[in-house]
Amino acid sequence: MQQSVKTVSTNTMIRTGAEYIASIRNRDLNVYLFGERIAEPVDHPLIRPSINAVAKTYDLASSAPELATALSPYTGERINRFLHIAESPEDLVLQNKMQRRLGQLTGTCFQRCVGMDALNALHSVTYEIDEAYGSGYHERFNRFVAMTQAAGFVIGGAMTDVKGDRSKAPHQQSDPDMYVHITKRSAEGVYVTGAKAHQTGCINSHWLIIMPTIRLGAEDKNFAIVGAIPVDSKGITYIYGRQSCDTRSMEGRGLDAGNEKFAGQEAMIVLDNVFIPNEYIFMDGEYDYAAMLVERFTCYHRRSYVCKSGVGDVLIGAAATIAEYNGADKASHIKDKLVEMTHLNETIYSTGIASSYQATQTKSGNYINDDMIANVCKHHVTRMPYEIGRLAQDLAGGLMVTLPSDQDLDHPEIGPMIRKYLQGRDDIDTEDRMRILRLIENMTLGRNAVGYLTESMHGAGSPQAQRIQISRQMQLGFKKQLAQKLAGINNELAEEVSTDLAEYFARVFRPPEHK
Ligand SMILES: Cc1cc2nc3c(=O)[nH]c(=O)nc-3n(C[C@H](O)[C@H](O)[C@H](O)COP(=O)(O)OP(=O)(O)OC[C@H]3O[C@@H](n4cnc5c(N)ncnc54)[C@H](O)[C@@H]3O)c2cc1C
Ligand code: SF4
Repeated sequence: MQQSVKTVSTNTMIRTGAEYIASIRNRDLNVYLFGERIAEPVDHPLIRPSINAVAKTYDLASSAPELATALSPYTGERINRFLHIAESPEDLVLQNKMQRRLGQLTGTCFQRCVGMDALNALHSVTYEIDEAYGSGYHERFNRFVAMTQAAGFVIGGAMTDVKGDRSKAPHQQSDPDMYVHITKRSAEGVYVTGAKAHQTGCINSHWLIIMPTIRLGAEDKNFAIVGAIPVDSKGITYIYGRQSCDTRSMEGRGLDAGNEKFAGQEAMIVLDNVFIPNEYIFMDGEYDYAAMLVERFTCYHRRSYVCKSGVGDVLIGAAATIAEYNGADKASHIKDKLVEMTHLNETIYSTGIASSYQATQTKSGNYINDDMIANVCKHHVTRMPYEIGRLAQDLAGGLMVTLPSDQDLDHPEIGPMIRKYLQGRDDIDTEDRMRILRLIENMTLGRNAVGYLTESMHGAGSPQAQRIQISRQMQLGFKKQLAQKLAGINNELAEEVSTDLAEYFARVFRPPEHK
């Protein structure tokens, strides 16, 4: 893949988790939580676990560079893989392996994949808009990529609009701000207003990429805007999303949090006439390319949900541990349930990784994973973590929702009662038993159930969105031809079984040397 940008120095690149945390201090962001403006999000006990999860993406790059870094053709240096433009199917596979590993290490959402997938989608979409309109977006975009790689920035991908009445197109909404749109222009750039919902890791990012959320028509031209803005741009308000049991991160010594160190983050981003300079605009009015951008982004992102298999590894480990602590681990049904959980978890991983292996090269030279299998992966993700969670709760027993508090455990009078009556196996400390139960609660009902369950349902599109993509690509006509020919049905359709495989099957049967 050729890049037409000059080499950029990486001397000041953010490389470690500690450097990352320092880099997001003192930004004077307009962040609201519990009705108050937060002076420094980095030091807020409820927000900090989400920052720790992002920091882990830097630390993994230091400790496992083969997994979490890549050699950049833009800078000539090794960069964090979350900023790399995929140059081969193997690059996409390595993204998935890095995602699984980070899921294992954090047990939550580490927040950088939306930006990674937006960068990869925009690489090809800007190129193809230029081809059609001679617009020059791709060169600008490459400069932006080079700058973010050299600095080692975190990029948030802001696609989902608040959308108002779902039955209406953006231009039909009674309030145009339901979808982010251009409000005014100057010679230097455009101003945008609107709001983006459920934005993963936005406050923990350095830059945001604003993108349209649905297919647009000619009357939606003003909504066809893609641009990058610094997180601390003037006119942005962040309204923090509450997660179930989130205030436990602010209590006691952290036992009740379940996963004290790591959590995800979502917030609503309100944009009030936020300026995007020309050099950071990558689509402006080309409404006919909005659908291509949404489809390519979701193609990448739907197999990024392999992250859930890493989180699933933690939950399976927690379920196996509590079974041991309860003295039930030798029972055949317990072993079978752990096998079932593993089978479901590996199904998610297999489809994600298969989608990445079956990648194709785009016109701009980067690689995109297989869309059919990415949708199958994400569709599994809308179901399987719920079943894995159900089985974990089965193995945990009712205590995971009726445990007394950490403070009660510490109490001079009732603490000993708790230690006595909540003892499981003799050789296991009651507090350890409580800790593993709290982790299962955290992942299936608490803070990290946001990422493990509901985000699995809706992130990168609700289940129906995957069914639509699967139905578009299922090639029923071709499959009917196959069946009718073998059944000996003598008609025109059966005679036409094509050896010239098209669409999905062209990807399935492409000889390896042409990949
Ligand atoms: C934890 C979490 C993190 C996320 N992170 C990000 C992020 O970082 N960046 C980002 O851009 N987005 C993010 N998302 C947003 C995600 O992509 C959306 O949640 C998803 O696209 C669904 O949109 P919605 O939540 O508005 O649900 P809705 O659109 O309200 O959907 C609710 C239900 O209504 C159905 N429905 C909606 N519209 C129609 C229609 N027109 N016709 C028929 N049925 C319809 C849907 O199929 C679904 O069943 C995140 C979401 C979650 C939950
Ligand atoms: S939910 Fe998974 S894919 Fe999405 S940003 Fe979080 S870790 Fe990455």
